[in-house]
Amino acid sequence: MPGTINTVQSAMPPFEEYVELIRPLWETHWLTNMGTIHEQFRAGLLGYTKADNVALFCNGHHALEVCFEAMGLGTDGRKKVITTPFTFVSTTNAIVRSGLEPVFVDVKPDDYTLDPAKVEEAMDEDVCAIVPVHVYGNLCDDDALEAIAKKWDVPVLYDAAHTFGVTKDGVSSACFGAAAMYSFHATKTFHSVEGGAVFYRDEALATNLRQMKNFGISSKTEVDSISGNAKMSEFHAAMGLLNLKYIEDEIAKRERVAQRYYERLDGVPGLKVTKPNPGIRSNHCYLPVLFQGGFGATRDEVWQSLWAQDVHCSRYFYPTVPEYKCYREKYDASRYPVAIDISRRVLTLPMYGALPLEDVDRVCDAVLGARR
Ligand SMILES: *Cc1c(COP(=O)(O)O)cnc(C)c1O
Repeated sequence: MPGTINTVQSAMPPFEEYVELIRPLWETHWLTNMGTIHEQFRAGLLGYTKADNVALFCNGHHALEVCFEAMGLGTDGRKKVITTPFTFVSTTNAIVRSGLEPVFVDVKPDDYTLDPAKVEEAMDEDVCAIVPVHVYGNLCDDDALEAIAKKWDVPVLYDAAHTFGVTKDGVSSACFGAAAMYSFHATKTFHSVEGGAVFYRDEALATNLRQMKNFGISSKTEVDSISGNAKMSEFHAAMGLLNLKYIEDEIAKRERVAQRYYERLDGVPGLKVTKPNPGIRSNHCYLPVLFQGGFGATRDEVWQSLWAQDVHCSRYFYPTVPEYKCYREKYDASRYPVAIDISRRVLTLPMYGALPLEDVDRVCDAVLGARR
């Protein structure tokens, strides 16, 4: 009986290297609040991405919330944020929890990112920002989105949670827009167990970002804003710093895994393998495949069949955000037919650097064997 194949497996640096890195903490007792390793990690991230500035957070979700707060979104009365229904619920929750109003716009059928033509139609005087989501390891149409944003004088703030290590024509996704949020959660290609970051363009945001992840504290005796706590600890920064050392290695291994999937599944009737767009170097955070009429089994039949064979896989994203209980009374999901359609047909298959190619073959056999 072959063993379980998981959908993801977190990359781990050598144990001894981690121990060596955290050893000094037993002398300094400085465990969080922007310590030495936190600063090393920050410098490492700027070196790797070539971005201008970065602030670190306890996770990606709070990074996004603090980013909105630091930019003062909504404070001038404009509350609408253009965003996508095809995302992890975190993106929308961050918008709503910040007192802002999501305006869902449908996605493109080819890469599932915000459709610029539909963004254009949704723009008005009440919009204060565009929050697109890079999906799976592909990037949004940044040129078109940023041109619209420029016309309306609003910032583009990317949810780049999936895309650490992704480049377009050699430029890191951290360098796009006014800011880009990353999740360093254990399930992502690059992680610090839990963690997140905001890469940003305008140096003037530094003070707000620093204070607003630390209760709004501005000095020993002063608090400037009613903010929460979203700081990254030294133990998380240490994991991030070491994983950064091995990130290219991890992406190269995932590339091998992806190529094997492409060899086995590309061209199968009724099955679409979603590949990176031209010019994109993907980090292969996920391996999404789409099922169409003519495959011989529905997405849900394949999903069920794989789990029955101990091959774990995800219907990700399914359902779309406006379909969740907390949103469906207010939003009519049928207005986003492309997002709905993709969410019914997409399956993300097991993907991680350490996944043996024999296991990829077992996954592919199971997918193809699900056909009637
Ligand atoms: C993972 C993820 C987040 C949230 O990140 P956390 O670090 O888990 O808080 C937000 N948006 C998207 C698209 C994600 O995939």
